[in-house]
Amino acid sequence: MSDTTISLPIPRMPGVRGRLQDNPVLGHKRVLLAAPRGYCAGVDRAVVAVEKALELYGAPVYVRKQIVHNVHVVSELERQGAIFVDEVDEVPPGAHVVFSAHGVSPAVVNAAADRGLLAIDATCPLVTKVHREAVRFARDDFEILLIGHAGHEEVEGTAGEAPEHVTLVNGPDDVDSIVVKDPEKVVWLSQTTLSVDETMETVRRLRERFPHLQDPPSDDICYATQNRQVAIKKVAEQADLVIVVGSANSSNSVRLVEVALEHGASAAYRVDYASEIKQVWLDGVASVGVTSGASVPEVLVQEVLDDLAGAGYRDVQQVKTAEEDLMFSLPKELRKDITGKQDARALGGRVH
Ligand code: SF4
Repeated sequence: MSDTTISLPIPRMPGVRGRLQDNPVLGHKRVLLAAPRGYCAGVDRAVVAVEKALELYGAPVYVRKQIVHNVHVVSELERQGAIFVDEVDEVPPGAHVVFSAHGVSPAVVNAAADRGLLAIDATCPLVTKVHREAVRFARDDFEILLIGHAGHEEVEGTAGEAPEHVTLVNGPDDVDSIVVKDPEKVVWLSQTTLSVDETMETVRRLRERFPHLQDPPSDDICYATQNRQVAIKKVAEQADLVIVVGSANSSNSVRLVEVALEHGASAAYRVDYASEIKQVWLDGVASVGVTSGASVPEVLVQEVLDDLAGAGYRDVQQVKTAEEDLMFSLPKELRKDITGKQDARALGGRVH
């Protein structure tokens, strides 16, 4: 893993947006831009899946829940013809429906099939991995202590794989009230987008109560969540203020604010858009850390950088703690239809 601070060669555009004032501060004004930040492989795949579905089948394409937790992404896809619904019974029979990156329980898959929907499963493969672990441990008659946030779609989907075996643990403070049938046969799993440090604290307290607690076969908190937290820790050590671009319902974005505050930032705020940055946040601030959650397109970060440049923060230094090059292939239902369409075109070409 590399750990570097480099000055970005891209010249910023001071005053392009001109909303924030350039007030004097003690010291040199700079931006520390975390890397990695923004889109992860699972989000990229899910967003492209909806775009490809619109291209292949035409609008509307229905999407159960927000495809990823970002207001900008959702409104862009709505503009292109996606219709977001809460449950599959809102989708007309026979229509295409995309399941979001956060995953669904078998009950949702079955409800879609019963309704005759053409489902495209955009569940992130790293969420599917946790579903498989839940199924396997339930088959082996383990009690699964699922660390995650109550009501989050991912947690509902994972718990739905084996509801009679899963107990939700909301965080360290939940541990004392957990009741299990057989303390010798318990395993913990987790939501993919939690704070690594807080989850380890929850596990430590669970293990105090249940010494035979088994670990998952591999990390459930995904690479993207972990990498973004490592990068913002490094930034927060040197920043007076941290701005996290991301939506309020994005678990990994909200965690980035918490991690920044725990690791030295005097203040940290989450914004959906640059226009939400308040002038008062910049009072006396020489170094502004900037990052974005895993569901945030880079254009929104660029707008933040442009506004900060207008306020005199023109020196942008990237703080890079990891390289990411993971990519996932499109959902299999789409790959099949894309291949079918290509075959039909090739056949058409030969006939005519
Ligand atoms: S944050 Fe992690 S689990 Fe969620 S979509 Fe991205 S890679 Fe997948």
